[in-house]
Amino acid sequence: MRFALQPHLIPEPLLSTSQLTYKISEIPTIPEPSFNPSFTFNPNLQRHLSGKQLLLEDLPFSLEEIQLHYQNGYIAYRPALKKTLEKYECMRCGTKDWQWFASYPCSRCGENCVYCRKCIMMGRISSCTPLICWLGPSPQENDSGASEPILHWQGQLSQGQEEASRHVVQAISTSTELLVWAVCGAGKTEVLFKGIEYALTKGDRVCIATPRTDVVLELTPRIKAVFPGIEVASLFGGSEDRHKYAAITISTTHQLQRFYHAFDTMIVDEVDAFPYSMDESLQYAVQQARKPHSTMIYLTATPSQAWQRDCRVGKRQYVTIPARYHRQPLPVPVFLWCGNWEKQLERNSLPSNLKAWVEQRLKQGKQVLVFAPKIRLMEKMLPLFRQLHPKTEMVHAEDPIRKEKVGLMRNKEIPLLVTTTILERGVTFPNIDVAIIGTEDAIFTESALVQIAGRAGRSAQFPTGDVVFFHHGRTEAMVRARKQITTMNQQGLKRGLLDR
Ligand SMILES: [Zn+2]
Ligand SMILES: [Zn+2]
Repeated sequence: MRFALQPHLIPEPLLSTSQLTYKISEIPTIPEPSFNPSFTFNPNLQRHLSGKQLLLEDLPFSLEEIQLHYQNGYIAYRPALKKTLEKYECMRCGTKDWQWFASYPCSRCGENCVYCRKCIMMGRISSCTPLICWLGPSPQENDSGASEPILHWQGQLSQGQEEASRHVVQAISTSTELLVWAVCGAGKTEVLFKGIEYALTKGDRVCIATPRTDVVLELTPRIKAVFPGIEVASLFGGSEDRHKYAAITISTTHQLQRFYHAFDTMIVDEVDAFPYSMDESLQYAVQQARKPHSTMIYLTATPSQAWQRDCRVGKRQYVTIPARYHRQPLPVPVFLWCGNWEKQLERNSLPSNLKAWVEQRLKQGKQVLVFAPKIRLMEKMLPLFRQLHPKTEMVHAEDPIRKEKVGLMRNKEIPLLVTTTILERGVTFPNIDVAIIGTEDAIFTESALVQIAGRAGRSAQFPTGDVVFFHHGRTEAMVRARKQITTMNQQGLKRGLLDR
Protein backbone atom coordinates (compact mmCIF):
# COMPACT_ATOMS: atom_id res chain seq x y z
CA MET A 1 0.00 0.00 0.00
CA ARG A 2 1.27 3.38 -0.93
CA PHE A 3 0.22 5.08 2.28
CA ALA A 4 0.97 2.46 4.84
CA LEU A 5 0.46 4.13 8.16
CA GLN A 6 3.98 4.00 9.45
CA PRO A 7 5.31 6.92 11.41
CA HIS A 8 8.38 7.40 9.27
CA LEU A 9 6.23 7.85 6.18
CA ILE A 10 4.20 10.63 7.65
CA PRO A 11 5.98 13.95 7.35
CA GLU A 12 6.34 15.53 10.71
CA PRO A 13 4.22 18.65 10.13
CA LEU A 14 1.39 16.61 8.61
CA LEU A 15 0.66 14.78 11.80
CA SER A 16 2.39 16.63 14.57
CA THR A 17 2.78 15.00 17.94
CA SER A 18 -0.30 16.77 19.20
CA GLN A 19 -2.34 15.33 16.38
CA LEU A 20 -1.05 11.91 17.16
CA THR A 21 -2.26 12.14 20.70
CA TYR A 22 -5.87 12.97 20.07
CA LYS A 23 -6.78 10.45 22.68
CA ILE A 24 -5.99 12.83 25.48
CA SER A 25 -6.80 16.09 23.83
CA GLU A 26 -10.16 17.75 23.47
CA ILE A 27 -11.72 17.38 20.08
CA PRO A 28 -10.61 20.26 17.92
CA THR A 29 -13.57 21.51 15.99
CA ILE A 30 -13.09 22.09 12.32
CA PRO A 31 -11.71 25.59 11.87
CA GLU A 32 -13.61 28.17 9.87
CA PRO A 33 -12.43 27.90 6.28
CA SER A 34 -9.60 30.38 5.77
CA PHE A 35 -7.75 28.97 2.84
CA ASN A 36 -5.01 30.79 0.98
CA PRO A 37 -6.67 32.05 -2.23
CA SER A 38 -3.42 32.29 -4.15
CA PHE A 39 -2.63 28.62 -3.64
CA THR A 40 -3.36 26.45 -6.68
CA PHE A 41 -5.23 23.52 -5.22
CA ASN A 42 -5.60 20.16 -6.92
CA PRO A 43 -9.16 19.91 -8.32
CA ASN A 44 -8.98 16.13 -8.20
CA LEU A 45 -8.29 16.21 -4.50
CA GLN A 46 -11.09 18.73 -4.11
CA ARG A 47 -13.62 16.46 -5.84
CA HIS A 48 -12.36 13.45 -3.95
CA LEU A 49 -12.56 14.97 -0.52
CA SER A 50 -15.21 17.67 -0.63
CA GLY A 51 -18.03 16.82 1.78
CA LYS A 52 -16.26 13.70 3.01
CA GLN A 53 -14.36 12.52 6.05
CA LEU A 54 -11.73 10.09 4.88
CA LEU A 55 -8.68 8.29 6.13
CA LEU A 56 -5.20 8.80 4.73
CA GLU A 57 -5.39 5.46 2.96
CA ASP A 58 -8.60 6.56 1.20
CA LEU A 59 -6.71 9.40 -0.49
CA PRO A 60 -4.76 8.42 -3.60
CA PHE A 61 -2.56 11.53 -3.39
CA SER A 62 0.95 11.93 -2.13
CA LEU A 63 1.46 12.89 1.47
CA GLU A 64 3.43 15.92 0.30
CA GLU A 65 0.48 17.13 -1.69
CA ILE A 66 -1.98 16.53 1.15
CA GLN A 67 0.39 18.33 3.45
CA LEU A 68 0.62 21.32 1.12
CA HIS A 69 -3.15 21.62 1.06
CA TYR A 70 -3.22 21.38 4.84
CA GLN A 71 -0.66 24.16 5.20
CA ASN A 72 -2.68 26.39 2.90
CA GLY A 73 -5.89 25.82 4.83
CA TYR A 74 -7.62 23.57 2.31
CA ILE A 75 -7.64 20.48 4.50
CA ALA A 76 -8.44 19.84 8.15
CA TYR A 77 -7.81 16.90 10.42
CA ARG A 78 -10.28 15.80 13.06
CA PRO A 79 -9.55 13.11 15.60
CA ALA A 80 -11.46 9.96 14.77
CA LEU A 81 -11.96 9.03 18.41
CA LYS A 82 -12.77 11.39 21.20
CA LYS A 83 -12.04 10.59 24.80
CA THR A 84 -13.89 12.14 27.67
CA LEU A 85 -12.99 10.92 31.14
CA GLU A 86 -12.85 7.16 30.68
CA LYS A 87 -15.23 7.03 27.76
CA TYR A 88 -14.53 6.89 24.06
CA GLU A 89 -16.70 8.18 21.30
CA CYS A 90 -16.21 7.39 17.63
CA MET A 91 -16.52 10.56 15.59
CA ARG A 92 -17.33 8.67 12.42
CA CYS A 93 -20.16 6.42 13.56
CA GLY A 94 -21.09 8.10 16.83
CA THR A 95 -20.68 4.95 18.91
CA LYS A 96 -20.22 5.55 22.62
CA ASP A 97 -20.88 2.05 23.90
CA TRP A 98 -17.62 0.73 25.38
CA GLN A 99 -18.30 -2.75 24.05
CA TRP A 100 -17.45 -1.58 20.56
CA PHE A 101 -13.97 -0.38 21.48
CA ALA A 102 -10.90 -2.57 21.61
CA SER A 103 -7.18 -1.91 21.64
CA TYR A 104 -4.25 -3.20 19.64
CA PRO A 105 -0.51 -2.53 19.49
CA CYS A 106 -0.44 0.25 16.92
CA SER A 107 2.50 0.41 14.53
CA ARG A 108 1.76 4.02 13.70
CA CYS A 109 2.03 5.66 17.09
CA GLY A 110 3.83 2.82 18.83
CA GLU A 111 1.29 2.69 21.63
CA ASN A 112 -1.62 0.50 22.50
CA CYS A 113 -4.23 2.21 20.38
CA VAL A 114 -7.97 2.06 20.92
CA TYR A 115 -10.08 1.54 17.84
CA CYS A 116 -13.77 1.37 16.92
CA ARG A 117 -15.04 -2.05 15.85
CA LYS A 118 -18.48 -0.76 14.93
CA CYS A 119 -17.46 0.99 11.72
CA ILE A 120 -14.34 -1.04 10.95
CA MET A 121 -15.66 -2.08 7.54
CA MET A 122 -15.05 1.53 6.48
CA GLY A 123 -11.36 1.17 7.40
CA ARG A 124 -9.94 1.03 10.90
CA ILE A 125 -9.96 4.24 12.86
CA SER A 126 -8.11 4.46 16.11
CA SER A 127 -7.21 7.04 18.69
CA CYS A 128 -4.24 8.21 16.62
CA THR A 129 -6.10 8.34 13.31
CA PRO A 130 -7.28 11.62 11.91
CA LEU A 131 -10.36 11.97 9.76
CA ILE A 132 -9.46 14.22 6.87
CA CYS A 133 -11.89 16.84 5.61
CA TRP A 134 -11.91 19.44 2.85
CA LEU A 135 -12.03 23.10 3.89
CA GLY A 136 -11.51 24.68 0.48
CA PRO A 137 -14.21 25.80 -1.93
CA SER A 138 -16.75 23.25 -3.18
CA PRO A 139 -16.43 22.03 -6.74
CA GLN A 140 -18.54 24.12 -9.08
CA GLU A 141 -20.98 22.23 -11.23
CA ASN A 142 -20.94 23.68 -14.70
CA ASP A 143 -24.49 24.86 -15.29
CA SER A 144 -23.98 25.54 -18.96
CA GLY A 145 -27.59 24.89 -19.87
CA ALA A 146 -29.28 26.81 -17.08
CA SER A 147 -32.27 27.52 -19.31
CA GLU A 148 -32.75 23.83 -20.10
CA PRO A 149 -35.24 22.02 -17.90
CA ILE A 150 -33.47 19.67 -15.50
CA LEU A 151 -36.40 17.36 -14.85
CA HIS A 152 -37.46 15.12 -17.71
CA TRP A 153 -40.59 13.45 -16.53
CA GLN A 154 -43.84 13.12 -18.44
CA GLY A 155 -45.87 11.45 -15.70
CA GLN A 156 -48.77 12.90 -13.83
CA LEU A 157 -48.93 13.23 -10.07
CA SER A 158 -52.06 12.10 -8.27
CA GLN A 159 -53.89 14.71 -6.27
CA GLY A 160 -52.37 13.39 -3.04
CA GLN A 161 -48.87 13.29 -4.53
CA GLU A 162 -49.31 16.82 -5.86
CA GLU A 163 -50.05 18.17 -2.39
CA ALA A 164 -47.10 16.33 -0.87
CA SER A 165 -44.84 17.48 -3.70
CA ARG A 166 -45.72 21.11 -2.92
CA HIS A 167 -44.80 20.57 0.73
CA VAL A 168 -41.47 19.03 -0.27
CA VAL A 169 -40.58 22.04 -2.45
CA GLN A 170 -41.64 24.33 0.40
CA ALA A 171 -39.42 22.48 2.89
CA ILE A 172 -36.45 22.71 0.53
CA SER A 173 -36.99 26.41 -0.08
CA THR A 174 -36.95 27.08 3.67
CA SER A 175 -34.35 24.42 4.63
CA THR A 176 -36.68 22.80 7.13
CA GLU A 177 -37.61 19.26 8.15
CA LEU A 178 -40.59 17.38 6.73
CA LEU A 179 -42.02 13.89 7.09
CA VAL A 180 -43.85 12.50 4.07
CA TRP A 181 -46.14 9.76 5.35
CA ALA A 182 -47.32 8.01 2.22
CA VAL A 183 -49.27 4.75 2.29
CA CYS A 184 -47.75 1.69 0.57
CA GLY A 185 -48.34 2.07 -3.15
CA ALA A 186 -48.94 5.84 -3.04
CA GLY A 187 -45.89 6.45 -5.22
CA LYS A 188 -43.54 8.38 -2.96
CA THR A 189 -40.55 8.63 -5.31
CA GLU A 190 -42.41 10.84 -7.81
CA VAL A 191 -43.24 13.18 -4.96
CA LEU A 192 -39.54 14.05 -4.74
CA PHE A 193 -38.95 14.97 -8.37
CA LYS A 194 -40.01 18.63 -8.24
CA GLY A 195 -38.25 19.12 -4.93
CA ILE A 196 -35.00 17.68 -6.26
CA GLU A 197 -35.29 19.83 -9.37
CA TYR A 198 -35.82 22.90 -7.22
CA ALA A 199 -32.86 22.00 -5.01
CA LEU A 200 -30.59 21.51 -8.02
CA THR A 201 -31.57 24.83 -9.57
CA LYS A 202 -30.54 26.62 -6.40
CA GLY A 203 -27.22 24.76 -6.47
CA ASP A 204 -27.93 22.31 -3.67
CA ARG A 205 -26.17 18.99 -3.35
CA VAL A 206 -28.87 16.38 -2.88
CA CYS A 207 -28.69 13.02 -1.14
CA ILE A 208 -31.28 10.27 -1.11
CA ALA A 209 -30.34 7.81 1.62
CA THR A 210 -31.98 4.52 2.47
CA PRO A 211 -31.15 1.65 4.79
CA ARG A 212 -31.52 -0.93 2.04
CA THR A 213 -29.15 -1.61 -0.87
CA ASP A 214 -32.10 -2.93 -2.91
CA VAL A 215 -33.68 0.50 -2.77
CA VAL A 216 -30.46 2.20 -3.92
CA LEU A 217 -30.29 -0.17 -6.89
CA GLU A 218 -33.91 0.42 -7.76
CA LEU A 219 -33.85 4.20 -7.34
CA THR A 220 -30.65 4.87 -9.26
CA PRO A 221 -31.94 4.17 -12.79
CA ARG A 222 -35.21 5.96 -12.06
CA ILE A 223 -33.48 9.11 -10.85
CA LYS A 224 -30.95 9.01 -13.70
CA ALA A 225 -33.78 8.70 -16.20
CA VAL A 226 -35.64 11.77 -14.97
CA PHE A 227 -32.52 13.90 -14.44
CA PRO A 228 -30.55 12.88 -17.54
CA GLY A 229 -28.12 15.81 -17.50
CA ILE A 230 -27.19 15.47 -13.85
CA GLU A 231 -24.33 13.52 -12.34
CA VAL A 232 -25.67 10.79 -10.04
CA ALA A 233 -23.51 8.76 -7.65
CA SER A 234 -24.88 5.45 -6.44
CA LEU A 235 -23.31 4.25 -3.20
CA PHE A 236 -23.54 0.89 -1.48
CA GLY A 237 -20.98 -1.61 -0.18
CA GLY A 238 -18.59 -2.27 -3.07
CA SER A 239 -20.06 0.25 -5.51
CA GLU A 240 -17.82 1.87 -8.09
CA ASP A 241 -19.06 5.41 -7.52
CA ARG A 242 -17.30 5.66 -4.17
CA HIS A 243 -15.15 8.60 -5.19
CA LYS A 244 -17.54 10.32 -7.53
CA TYR A 245 -18.51 13.88 -6.73
CA ALA A 246 -22.10 14.26 -7.88
CA ALA A 247 -25.00 16.68 -7.62
CA ILE A 248 -27.26 13.78 -6.63
CA THR A 249 -26.00 11.02 -4.37
CA ILE A 250 -28.11 7.92 -3.77
CA SER A 251 -26.61 6.02 -0.87
CA THR A 252 -27.17 3.41 1.78
CA THR A 253 -27.18 4.97 5.22
CA HIS A 254 -24.04 2.89 5.94
CA GLN A 255 -22.04 4.58 3.22
CA LEU A 256 -22.91 8.02 4.58
CA GLN A 257 -20.34 7.41 7.31
CA ARG A 258 -17.75 8.67 4.83
CA PHE A 259 -19.51 12.01 4.42
CA TYR A 260 -19.21 15.14 6.46
CA HIS A 261 -21.32 18.28 6.05
CA ALA A 262 -21.87 17.43 2.42
CA PHE A 263 -25.54 17.82 1.55
CA ASP A 264 -27.91 20.77 1.43
CA THR A 265 -30.92 18.53 0.89
CA MET A 266 -31.03 15.19 2.66
CA ILE A 267 -33.83 12.77 1.90
CA VAL A 268 -34.13 9.57 3.93
CA ASP A 269 -36.35 6.93 2.38
CA GLU A 270 -37.87 4.22 4.60
CA VAL A 271 -36.78 5.72 7.91
CA ASP A 272 -38.57 2.90 9.68
CA ALA A 273 -36.73 0.11 7.87
CA PHE A 274 -34.15 -2.18 9.42
CA PRO A 275 -31.36 -1.56 10.30
CA TYR A 276 -31.71 2.24 10.31
CA SER A 277 -34.52 2.29 12.85
CA MET A 278 -32.50 0.14 15.27
CA ASP A 279 -29.01 1.43 14.68
CA GLU A 280 -28.15 4.83 16.12
CA SER A 281 -24.87 4.99 14.25
CA LEU A 282 -26.76 5.15 10.95
CA GLN A 283 -28.92 7.98 12.23
CA TYR A 284 -25.73 9.70 13.35
CA ALA A 285 -24.26 9.20 9.87
CA VAL A 286 -27.24 10.89 8.25
CA GLN A 287 -27.00 13.87 10.59
CA GLN A 288 -23.28 14.18 10.05
CA ALA A 289 -23.56 13.99 6.27
CA ARG A 290 -25.93 16.94 6.02
CA LYS A 291 -24.74 20.49 6.21
CA PRO A 292 -25.56 22.29 9.46
CA HIS A 293 -28.02 24.44 7.54
CA SER A 294 -29.90 22.00 5.34
CA THR A 295 -33.23 20.45 4.45
CA MET A 296 -34.29 17.10 5.87
CA ILE A 297 -37.05 15.08 4.20
CA TYR A 298 -38.15 11.75 5.67
CA LEU A 299 -40.23 9.31 3.65
CA THR A 300 -42.11 6.41 5.12
CA ALA A 301 -45.31 4.41 4.90
CA THR A 302 -45.08 3.39 8.51
CA PRO A 303 -43.66 5.92 10.98
CA SER A 304 -42.83 4.71 14.47
CA GLN A 305 -45.31 5.20 17.28
CA ALA A 306 -43.20 8.04 18.67
CA TRP A 307 -43.26 9.85 15.33
CA GLN A 308 -47.00 9.26 14.93
CA ARG A 309 -47.49 10.85 18.34
CA ASP A 310 -45.28 13.80 17.40
CA CYS A 311 -47.38 14.30 14.29
CA ARG A 312 -50.63 14.23 16.27
CA VAL A 313 -49.48 16.79 18.82
CA GLY A 314 -47.94 19.09 16.21
CA LYS A 315 -44.31 18.48 17.18
CA ARG A 316 -43.39 17.30 13.72
CA GLN A 317 -44.04 18.85 10.33
CA TYR A 318 -45.63 16.23 8.12
CA VAL A 319 -47.82 15.61 5.12
CA THR A 320 -49.74 12.43 4.38
CA ILE A 321 -50.65 10.72 1.15
CA PRO A 322 -53.44 8.55 2.49
CA ALA A 323 -54.47 7.02 -0.83
CA ARG A 324 -52.84 5.00 -3.51
CA TYR A 325 -52.21 6.28 -6.98
CA HIS A 326 -55.12 4.21 -8.36
CA ARG A 327 -57.62 5.86 -5.97
CA GLN A 328 -58.83 2.60 -4.40
CA PRO A 329 -58.76 2.14 -0.61
CA LEU A 330 -56.10 0.06 1.11
CA PRO A 331 -57.16 -3.54 1.80
CA VAL A 332 -58.11 -3.79 5.48
CA PRO A 333 -56.75 -6.90 7.21
CA VAL A 334 -59.19 -9.46 8.59
CA PHE A 335 -58.25 -11.22 11.85
CA LEU A 336 -58.88 -14.97 11.96
CA TRP A 337 -58.11 -17.03 15.03
CA CYS A 338 -56.45 -20.30 14.05
CA GLY A 339 -55.72 -21.93 17.41
CA ASN A 340 -52.34 -23.34 18.38
CA TRP A 341 -51.01 -23.55 14.86
CA GLU A 342 -47.49 -24.53 15.95
CA LYS A 343 -48.85 -27.61 17.67
CA GLN A 344 -50.89 -28.42 14.60
CA LEU A 345 -47.78 -28.16 12.45
CA GLU A 346 -45.99 -30.57 14.77
CA ARG A 347 -48.79 -33.01 14.00
CA ASN A 348 -48.30 -32.30 10.30
CA SER A 349 -51.44 -30.40 9.65
CA LEU A 350 -52.29 -26.83 8.75
CA PRO A 351 -54.95 -24.92 10.68
CA SER A 352 -58.21 -25.81 8.94
CA ASN A 353 -59.32 -22.22 8.25
CA LEU A 354 -55.94 -21.35 6.76
CA LYS A 355 -56.01 -24.47 4.63
CA ALA A 356 -59.53 -23.71 3.37
CA TRP A 357 -58.58 -20.10 2.65
CA VAL A 358 -55.53 -21.11 0.62
CA GLU A 359 -57.43 -23.84 -1.26
CA GLN A 360 -60.07 -21.39 -2.29
CA ARG A 361 -57.46 -19.03 -3.72
CA LEU A 362 -55.68 -21.80 -5.58
CA LYS A 363 -58.96 -22.89 -7.09
CA GLN A 364 -59.58 -19.35 -8.33
CA GLY A 365 -56.08 -19.28 -9.76
CA LYS A 366 -55.08 -16.38 -7.52
CA GLN A 367 -51.53 -16.10 -6.24
CA VAL A 368 -50.93 -16.19 -2.50
CA LEU A 369 -48.16 -14.77 -0.34
CA VAL A 370 -47.99 -16.32 3.13
CA PHE A 371 -45.81 -14.72 5.80
CA ALA A 372 -44.54 -16.79 8.71
CA PRO A 373 -42.44 -15.85 11.73
CA LYS A 374 -39.79 -18.58 11.78
CA ILE A 375 -37.82 -20.49 9.16
CA ARG A 376 -38.02 -23.73 11.15
CA LEU A 377 -41.82 -23.57 11.08
CA MET A 378 -41.85 -22.62 7.42
CA GLU A 379 -39.93 -25.79 6.70
CA LYS A 380 -42.67 -27.73 8.49
CA MET A 381 -45.35 -25.94 6.49
CA LEU A 382 -43.81 -26.31 3.07
CA PRO A 383 -44.66 -30.00 2.45
CA LEU A 384 -48.16 -29.36 3.75
CA PHE A 385 -48.67 -26.49 1.33
CA ARG A 386 -47.13 -28.61 -1.42
CA GLN A 387 -49.93 -31.11 -0.88
CA LEU A 388 -52.25 -28.27 -1.92
CA HIS A 389 -50.03 -27.25 -4.82
CA PRO A 390 -46.73 -28.94 -5.71
CA LYS A 391 -45.15 -25.74 -7.01
CA THR A 392 -45.22 -23.98 -3.64
CA GLU A 393 -41.90 -22.39 -2.63
CA MET A 394 -40.45 -20.68 0.42
CA VAL A 395 -37.89 -17.86 0.78
CA HIS A 396 -35.90 -16.28 3.56
CA ALA A 397 -32.95 -13.91 3.82
CA GLU A 398 -30.26 -16.60 3.63
CA ASP A 399 -31.82 -18.36 0.66
CA PRO A 400 -29.19 -18.23 -2.12
CA ILE A 401 -31.82 -18.34 -4.88
CA ARG A 402 -34.22 -15.96 -3.22
CA LYS A 403 -34.13 -13.51 -6.15
CA GLU A 404 -34.94 -16.30 -8.62
CA LYS A 405 -37.90 -17.45 -6.55
CA VAL A 406 -39.26 -13.92 -6.30
CA GLY A 407 -38.83 -13.71 -10.07
CA LEU A 408 -40.80 -16.92 -10.55
CA MET A 409 -43.55 -15.55 -8.33
CA ARG A 410 -43.62 -12.35 -10.33
CA ASN A 411 -43.91 -14.37 -13.57
CA LYS A 412 -46.81 -16.28 -12.03
CA GLU A 413 -44.91 -19.56 -12.22
CA ILE A 414 -45.44 -20.14 -8.51
CA PRO A 415 -48.97 -20.04 -7.09
CA LEU A 416 -47.95 -19.83 -3.44
CA LEU A 417 -44.87 -18.37 -1.81
CA VAL A 418 -44.16 -18.75 1.90
CA THR A 419 -41.83 -16.06 3.21
CA THR A 420 -40.29 -14.42 6.25
CA THR A 421 -40.60 -10.67 6.72
CA ILE A 422 -37.88 -10.13 4.08
CA LEU A 423 -40.66 -9.62 1.55
CA GLU A 424 -42.59 -7.23 3.77
CA ARG A 425 -41.50 -4.30 1.64
CA GLY A 426 -40.08 -3.46 -1.73
CA VAL A 427 -41.82 -6.19 -3.74
CA THR A 428 -44.85 -5.84 -5.94
CA PHE A 429 -46.79 -8.79 -7.25
CA PRO A 430 -49.70 -7.42 -9.26
CA ASN A 431 -52.57 -9.65 -8.22
CA ILE A 432 -52.16 -11.44 -4.90
CA ASP A 433 -53.90 -12.22 -1.64
CA VAL A 434 -51.84 -12.04 1.51
CA ALA A 435 -51.93 -14.05 4.71
CA ILE A 436 -49.85 -14.17 7.85
CA ILE A 437 -49.69 -17.24 9.99
CA GLY A 438 -48.74 -16.62 13.60
CA THR A 439 -49.45 -12.90 13.47
CA GLU A 440 -49.13 -12.79 17.26
CA ASP A 441 -45.33 -13.22 16.98
CA ALA A 442 -43.32 -10.22 18.19
CA ILE A 443 -41.57 -9.97 14.83
CA PHE A 444 -44.81 -8.66 13.35
CA THR A 445 -44.67 -5.12 14.63
CA GLU A 446 -47.24 -2.51 13.73
CA SER A 447 -45.13 -1.24 10.85
CA ALA A 448 -44.31 -4.75 9.58
CA LEU A 449 -48.03 -5.54 9.54
CA VAL A 450 -48.94 -2.35 7.68
CA GLN A 451 -46.19 -3.09 5.15
CA ILE A 452 -47.35 -6.68 4.70
CA ALA A 453 -50.97 -5.64 4.23
CA GLY A 454 -49.63 -3.09 1.76
CA ARG A 455 -48.48 -5.88 -0.58
CA ALA A 456 -52.07 -6.49 -1.68
CA GLY A 457 -54.00 -4.51 -4.28
CA ARG A 458 -51.09 -2.43 -5.50
CA SER A 459 -51.58 -2.42 -9.24
CA ALA A 460 -54.17 -0.27 -10.98
CA GLN A 461 -55.30 -3.33 -12.92
CA PHE A 462 -55.96 -5.31 -9.72
CA PRO A 463 -56.49 -2.67 -7.03
CA THR A 464 -58.03 -5.00 -4.45
CA GLY A 465 -56.85 -8.07 -2.55
CA ASP A 466 -57.58 -9.99 0.62
CA VAL A 467 -55.37 -9.69 3.65
CA VAL A 468 -55.85 -12.13 6.52
CA PHE A 469 -53.97 -12.20 9.80
CA PHE A 470 -54.25 -15.78 11.10
CA HIS A 471 -53.38 -15.68 14.78
CA HIS A 472 -53.38 -17.46 18.10
CA GLY A 473 -54.26 -14.42 20.18
CA ARG A 474 -54.54 -10.87 18.88
CA THR A 475 -51.85 -8.36 19.75
CA GLU A 476 -51.77 -4.61 20.18
CA ALA A 477 -49.63 -4.37 17.05
CA MET A 478 -52.38 -6.05 15.02
CA VAL A 479 -55.02 -3.71 16.34
CA ARG A 480 -52.87 -0.63 15.78
CA ALA A 481 -51.90 -1.70 12.27
CA ARG A 482 -55.53 -2.17 11.28
CA LYS A 483 -56.39 1.17 12.85
CA GLN A 484 -53.62 2.90 10.91
CA ILE A 485 -54.97 1.46 7.66
CA THR A 486 -58.59 2.37 8.31
CA THR A 487 -57.59 5.87 9.43
CA MET A 488 -55.71 6.40 6.17
CA ASN A 489 -58.71 5.16 4.18
CA GLN A 490 -60.99 7.58 6.05
CA GLN A 491 -58.57 10.42 5.43
CA GLY A 492 -58.34 9.53 1.75
CA LEU A 493 -62.11 9.56 1.46
CA LYS A 494 -62.42 12.86 3.30
CA ARG A 495 -59.81 14.53 1.13
CA GLY A 496 -61.46 13.26 -2.04
CA LEU A 497 -58.52 11.05 -2.98
CA LEU A 498 -60.57 7.86 -3.32
CA ASP A 499 -63.21 6.75 -5.79
CA ARG A 500 -65.71 5.09 -3.54
ZN1 LIG B 1 -16.93 3.95 14.68
ZN1 LIG C 1 -1.90 4.46 17.13
